Amino acid sequence: MDKKRVFDRIEKLKKEINYHRYLYHVLDKQEISDAALDSLKNELMKLEKQFPEFLTPDSPTQRVGGNPLEKFRKVAHTVRMTSLNDAFSEEELHEWETRIKKLVSDFKFHVSELDYFAEAKGDGFAVSLIYKNGVFKTGSIRLGVRQHANYDNNSLKQNGFRLMPLESSNILFKLLTGSTRGDGITGEDVTENLKTVESIPLSIQKNIVELSKKHKEIKIILEKYPRVKQFLSSIHKITEIEVRGEVYMPKDAFNAANKEQKKKGLPVFANPRNIAAGSIRQLNPKITASRNLEFFAWDLVTNLGQETHEEEHLIMRILGFPTVPLTKHCKNTNEIIEFWKEVGRKREKLPFLIDGVVIQINNGKIFEKLGIVGKAPRGAIAFKFPAEETTTIVKNIIVQVGRTGVLTPVATLKPVRIGGVTVTHATLHNIDEIRRLDVRTGDTVIVERAGDVIPAVTGVLRRLRPKNAKEFHMPLHCPVCNSPVKKIESADKKQEFSVAYYCSNKNCGAVEREKLYHFISKKAFDIQGLGPKIIDALIESGLIKNAADIFTLKKEELEPLERFAEKSASKLIASINQKRTIELNRFIYSLGIHHVGEETAIDLAKNFGSINALNLASPEKLEKIRDIGGVVAKSIYNWFRDKKNRELLNRFKKAGLKIKIESQKPKKHKFKDKTFVLTGELESFTRDEAKGKIRNLGGEISESVNKKTDYVVAGENPGLKYNKAMKFGVKILSEEEFLNIIK
Ligand SMILES: [Zn+2]
Repeated sequence: MDKKRVFDRIEKLKKEINYHRYLYHVLDKQEISDAALDSLKNELMKLEKQFPEFLTPDSPTQRVGGNPLEKFRKVAHTVRMTSLNDAFSEEELHEWETRIKKLVSDFKFHVSELDYFAEAKGDGFAVSLIYKNGVFKTGSIRLGVRQHANYDNNSLKQNGFRLMPLESSNILFKLLTGSTRGDGITGEDVTENLKTVESIPLSIQKNIVELSKKHKEIKIILEKYPRVKQFLSSIHKITEIEVRGEVYMPKDAFNAANKEQKKKGLPVFANPRNIAAGSIRQLNPKITASRNLEFFAWDLVTNLGQETHEEEHLIMRILGFPTVPLTKHCKNTNEIIEFWKEVGRKREKLPFLIDGVVIQINNGKIFEKLGIVGKAPRGAIAFKFPAEETTTIVKNIIVQVGRTGVLTPVATLKPVRIGGVTVTHATLHNIDEIRRLDVRTGDTVIVERAGDVIPAVTGVLRRLRPKNAKEFHMPLHCPVCNSPVKKIESADKKQEFSVAYYCSNKNCGAVEREKLYHFISKKAFDIQGLGPKIIDALIESGLIKNAADIFTLKKEELEPLERFAEKSASKLIASINQKRTIELNRFIYSLGIHHVGEETAIDLAKNFGSINALNLASPEKLEKIRDIGGVVAKSIYNWFRDKKNRELLNRFKKAGLKIKIESQKPKKHKFKDKTFVLTGELESFTRDEAKGKIRNLGGEISESVNKKTDYVVAGENPGLKYNKAMKFGVKILSEEEFLNIIK
């Protein structure tokens, strides 16, 4: 390929990749798969490697830069970076408006000109982005490579590269400086880290004619807002653009990051806001890149002629910056409050965290005129949602065993309302976190609930500590299976050590879960709406450790969990309550005693009539029951001798579980004292239906064929039972014959 064609291909690839970035991050749409996009990026990367002279700093392949920095450079903000005053109630919002209105008339504006722009307030980390077109001027010569320190002009010429004119309408702004808020006057230069955030454009394509050709939405906006179109058509006169906004971590990315930390046995992150801030303010861009951060723009600092804050939002979107999707132009505080409530209702379902609504005077001139008091502008306010943080007392610190056997400490709390739900448990993550917080039983703690993230203890109020506050120690033996606990130390790249504790019984976590899955399965308790996923969530949050705990769950405990709005919490409690009375055979089956399947459970229920009688039965007595041999008898006998199982039975009793003692009496006695064995597939009904028919007619079902078996019902592809029936001379019924006799 000659160089000209390589260059063209590189430019086209960059354009295409930027097109999809715009589509995905700004317009929230996707045309091609992530894999296809990765393939384009790969091709670009290969070409750039082969022809480094064409590599530009704003290439989509250049998001993750070189080596970690020594420290951040300080940068002065062009315009002071303010923060916002808060309003926590409707009353405070009204007070703010009253103050504004007074000032507005003092400044000789018409109060009738006053309107507002409201937007959901992302809970992240504020940054400023400055784009410059550098040395390029309209009509200047472009070398195919935008000026860059690493660029070797001579080598390009030696390679015979042709200089190409730059189209005047296609000026690119590239990200020059990205900085933190700092104290509002000076921040830190975190450009390299911000470049890794894909929703931040590396360059702004301002050719709006081309943009509106590519995206219908943009065309519609430009038609609807001719003023916006007008500023953008003269944007090439501007040499610098500054945009401010929020870097945040989506909930999904947060949960994934914590899963990853847990897997590695490293400390988990407390909340998405802290991890976003920490990721931007650390020195290695590769780490930032791995955190899947996102960006929302909320302020266009540069004056392009815009008159309202609403116009700023539109311009920023057109220039390639995502803005928060929940916004509203409001005429008065009533409309603001309505919008605030609406956002509040949608909050849980949003893929990112928000902590309120920002209201800004829409008219830019009035906003400017009102100025700044302290660190915050008068013309804007953050109307916060009820606190997601509160204080309560740690009643106890318990240990929960995860699927991989890892032990996680969980604080049980004096119940407390946070953001409209009652919280009774909070994760303490691991022993490092407990040491860092120095949290003890009896302590007054700060508990935070961030979105659907599990509530966490984030601080201890030491001065409120009682004298008898108890320090936590990891148990020496697993609270679930009593196996010894082992300690595993690991170090990450920064040589930070962390300690994790595991149950030495490899199957511990999994086995306990399996037991619970069995307990709620169809032939056991069959609780509607309670599946393995919910069981996992309940174990994870420390709400249940064993099957009996299911019956002491409270609606308020479920509500804070992921997926549990108030409605589904009460639904689940209702379906648990429905199963507070259970047939004895189902109960026996649900206990998961080794070798005791559904049929054996029915036989045991019939023969013993109560769980107490079964408990007292000797192996000899058990063996007298048809189909129960020595191994099964021993397994049942031993189950009832195990201390943990006895405790479990006691817990069921305490939880108010009632067992229906009378066995279901069959309506007819056609098959009285007759024993059936089923083998093969039946066409007319499922196995369970067939068994039901036999039982209804007074017959019994057995799992294995012996001399005492009366009938073997053989469907398609019968198994060994068929051969046994032949051997013992047991009567074999075809499906048709069986259908005839049950008629
Ligand atoms: Zn264990």
